Amino acid sequence: MRNVLFVISGPSGVGKGTIAKKLVERNSQFALSISCTTRSPRPGEKDGIDYFFISKQEFQNKIDNNGLLEYSNHFENFYGTPRQFVEEKLKTHDVLLEIDVNGGLKVKEEFPQALLIMILPPSIEEIRNRLIKRSTESIQKIDLRMQRIKYELEKKSLYDFSVVNDKLITAVEKIEEYIKLQKNI
Ligand code: 5GP
Repeated sequence: MRNVLFVISGPSGVGKGTIAKKLVERNSQFALSISCTTRSPRPGEKDGIDYFFISKQEFQNKIDNNGLLEYSNHFENFYGTPRQFVEEKLKTHDVLLEIDVNGGLKVKEEFPQALLIMILPPSIEEIRNRLIKRSTESIQKIDLRMQRIKYELEKKSLYDFSVVNDKLITAVEKIEEYIKLQKNI
């Protein structure tokens, strides 16, 4: 079957980054896209691995040159998917994007055959606890992220598949089953 563009979305702190990395580790057909962002790296994050950390001007240049497949902003920062990587990799791999709900819906407009997967928290309170445990942001910023969660969860019905991240490995296996079914393998 043709290669597929998969999008993984879900509220901040739901563990979607860990799920995306596990999927790529366990399935060699997947290429994980690395997004560009104007936000500063968190402790331990590396340029070119977690994100391409670029300036607002560089981000604007990419928009002007049609270099982004989609982009959106979170609070004061911009995030976008490099178009060239996705289009090139799709020739040989399934491509996985770990992006927000607005980005996912934009991708679906441009690539109607893309499959959108939403990761849900076991409970909203659980997300808040995870964000606090990660402790890279102030409580005020965490509260802003919490407001956004409701908005993202409301978009669930526009996604093709959703899974609760109660136990990491179970969530990963459910996504793998869904992907196999979609690809008829
Ligand atoms: P964080 O700052 O926590 O790494 O990411 C904030 C949000 O931006 C997350 O929901 C993440 O999925 C989303 N995000 C990361 N990369 C992209 C991207 O390329 N495009 C869009 N639309 N959202 C992204």
